[in-house]
Amino acid sequence: MPSRVHLINPSNLSFGVAVITPRWLYVLAAATGTKWGDPNILDETLEALDMTQVARGDVVGIGIHTGNALRGYEVGRLARERGAWVVFGGIHATLFPDEVHEHGSAHAVVKGDGDVVWSKVVADCFAGTPQRIYEGGRIDGDQFLPARWDLLPKNKYMWASVQTVRGCPKHCSFCSVWRTDGQEPRQREVDRVVREVVDLRRLGFRFIALADDNFYPVSFEDLAMARRRADKTRLHELEALRAERFALMAQLEQLPDDIVFFTQITMEAAEDTEFLDAMRRAHIRGALVGVEAVTPEGLKDVYKGFNLAGDELAARLQKFRKHGVHVLGSFIFGLPSDKKDTFAATVALAEKADITFAQFVLLTPFPGTLDFEKWAKDTKNSNTKVDGVPITQHWLIPEPRRPKLYTEHPNMALEEIRVGTQGAWDDFYSLPKVWSRASKSVKSTKGRLAFVLISKLYRQMYANTGIATDSARVQRSAKTARLLGLAAKQLFRGSPMPGLQMPVPVPISPPSAKQQQAS
Ligand code: SF4
Repeated sequence: MPSRVHLINPSNLSFGVAVITPRWLYVLAAATGTKWGDPNILDETLEALDMTQVARGDVVGIGIHTGNALRGYEVGRLARERGAWVVFGGIHATLFPDEVHEHGSAHAVVKGDGDVVWSKVVADCFAGTPQRIYEGGRIDGDQFLPARWDLLPKNKYMWASVQTVRGCPKHCSFCSVWRTDGQEPRQREVDRVVREVVDLRRLGFRFIALADDNFYPVSFEDLAMARRRADKTRLHELEALRAERFALMAQLEQLPDDIVFFTQITMEAAEDTEFLDAMRRAHIRGALVGVEAVTPEGLKDVYKGFNLAGDELAARLQKFRKHGVHVLGSFIFGLPSDKKDTFAATVALAEKADITFAQFVLLTPFPGTLDFEKWAKDTKNSNTKVDGVPITQHWLIPEPRRPKLYTEHPNMALEEIRVGTQGAWDDFYSLPKVWSRASKSVKSTKGRLAFVLISKLYRQMYANTGIATDSARVQRSAKTARLLGLAAKQLFRGSPMPGLQMPVPVPISPPSAKQQQAS
């Protein structure tokens, strides 16, 4: 039966291979069911779209975040011209459903989580009665659906992705996660996570991203605060969340040694060496840590006072490495407190802190964040236009014309910040520095060469295509990334293990009671 439901991940750039599988595509594929045939999955980060696959009366689901919204709207209009039912979802659609209707020719918009509501949306479209807006809400962890990994194209993605928790209790000013996914961590049942991981390893995936908002959802400070309350309900909830993390890691530990997990975590996790050791044993070899800034002023700029600065920061990050967890540090440039020497100081700190990979991003007011609200309220910004589009809707400005920075800086010209950021990437990823990190991280020559390849690929994909203003450079980088990606993907393959057994649940006594008392 030809596919009647199409799920599209829009992108202006196609690399032929992708690093991490866009999980939402395969989760919504599961949510679609099989009544209409298997959904047709189209990921434009891999290949440019072929609209002839879409026929009159089909349903087209398009997931957008702010970065790919404009391309998503183009895809929506093309799909509607072909007579399809057009439905949008994702963070950006949740924030701006009216804009999506206006620019993307949508019949319907799904706000919030799509896992549960999607099958109704599809049925309504085929019945010719889609609603303008569907409220997907924030579903509980036990309602998160496993993805349809059987639909994955062979050898296109280096990392699969599995989600264990949505929501983050923090409130960083540049981040929308805590406002869209909520501040209450919604944790998925251990057995469901492990089953999905085992399915992926059976298929031959060795590298799996635990695509969580924050893998360390309960800090010592959270526990200490809950302990001070007379009503102990909250304390027991947090202890249960924490115990579940350890139960998950105890099962992941039983998986084959060639498996590698990567996750996203707050720096606070370094306070808990028992947690870090459990991560290492569970094959969680790396984590994205939002360092953001290396000075107290910079951290204040982003409401991230729970991070440390200077030498203390370096020592805390080193702790991850000492306990066997590599760090991908994320830094933001363009903060009001940044100075001309901030770029070099940041790279120096990243090196001192033994960070294995780093990303340097430009401060961008993304909708859904506190930073955005403050910035968009200023009439100076809403009155500034590019090609007639206010910069407070910067995602609607065609990409080649879109500014790279949006806020006047007290100490530097905007171009100076852009060039400084590019310089930080160039410096951190220079060949001698990459080789030196490779030598510290991996023993075999083959492993070191792989490390260099991955470092270069990462830089091409995220630095040159995101910061360069010159479209020829962007296209060249996309081409280079394509070639590097083709070579790198060989390194990520594993032999399928169809007979792999499920790990056995391990009884966990509430861990680190001693540490909690000490805290
Ligand atoms: S940046 Fe990280 S720690 Fe801060 S709110 Fe977002 S997910 Fe949470």
